[in-house]
Amino acid sequence: MAISRYQVVDCVLPAIIVSYIFWACYFSLLEIGVFWLIRVQQKYLLGGCYVAFMTLLFIPLISSFLYLWLVPPVMPMPPGPPPPKDSLVEPHETNENGDLAICNRDHCNGNWKPPRTHHCSICKVCRPGFDHHCHWVGSCLSLADMNVFLCLLWITPVTVGLGSLPIMPTLAHQVKEAYSVAQSDEWIIANWWSWFGSWIFFGGPFGRYIGAVILGYHTIARQRPDIPKPLSMIEEPHLGTFLTIAFGSLLALFTLALGLSSDVHRPRAFTAGGSPLRPAMAYEPQEHNATAPESSEDGSTTEVRIFVISEVVMVSDSAVPDISPK
Ligand SMILES: [Zn+2]
Ligand SMILES: [Zn+2]
Repeated sequence: MAISRYQVVDCVLPAIIVSYIFWACYFSLLEIGVFWLIRVQQKYLLGGCYVAFMTLLFIPLISSFLYLWLVPPVMPMPPGPPPPKDSLVEPHETNENGDLAICNRDHCNGNWKPPRTHHCSICKVCRPGFDHHCHWVGSCLSLADMNVFLCLLWITPVTVGLGSLPIMPTLAHQVKEAYSVAQSDEWIIANWWSWFGSWIFFGGPFGRYIGAVILGYHTIARQRPDIPKPLSMIEEPHLGTFLTIAFGSLLALFTLALGLSSDVHRPRAFTAGGSPLRPAMAYEPQEHNATAPESSEDGSTTEVRIFVISEVVMVSDSAVPDISPK
């Protein structure tokens, strides 16, 4: 069976992210916490608190990512036509003709598509409670995964922000130094600043300045070959430190934007998706548990019962798709 490019992306992207997360865990706890704060700066209390707090952040971050990446998604709908309408006891999704909704995409071949079931075009199956296919974790995400997914989205910017806080002043000073070296170095002026490609091939003007800073870091390292090995990666300008924080900041901005977006607050798994829900059977009104007393003219109160239409839920007992947590 041919491997699609999406399957390659689903393998490569999570592998890159998980490698970075483990590297960032080492960098934060040891390079910043133990080597920089405790050994170099001798701030024992701050260093100890930093290491303990960051450990508490990395545990849910790593476990939520591994959960979404490695635990198989919710099972797809089993193959088979829709059940007889007579067997259904709740309102259910139909097409314009009143027939039960089915899916004919990819390999679904007319499979029944109950409410809140959506077709994943990457996995080519219909999944109950499907929300979206996430390439960053290489898997389908459904209703059962939403809490873990939101935890990952919110905890990433918090971890990056608090984790890099103790080295921010030092890092800002080093970036300034690297930038000024890049502005005065003859080789960088001739081969980077004067090269038109620096405006185009590295992400536009923003990438041009990032590239200059990276070259500045490289030049600083070249000009100081005999420096004794420092205790931490923070003491001297180190390209690894700059790239670690830069990549983490991009991830933090990305997850923050996703976390704030309305789609994630109201995942598709909670709604009917694009297909309207049309009752093929009569709704059975449910009595609302709230009753509101109303005063009549003679001062006595009569009870007004409020009836609401029950929320559209799954169908017959025999055909309820399993959307329990994986
Ligand atoms: Zn389908
Ligand atoms: Zn999928």
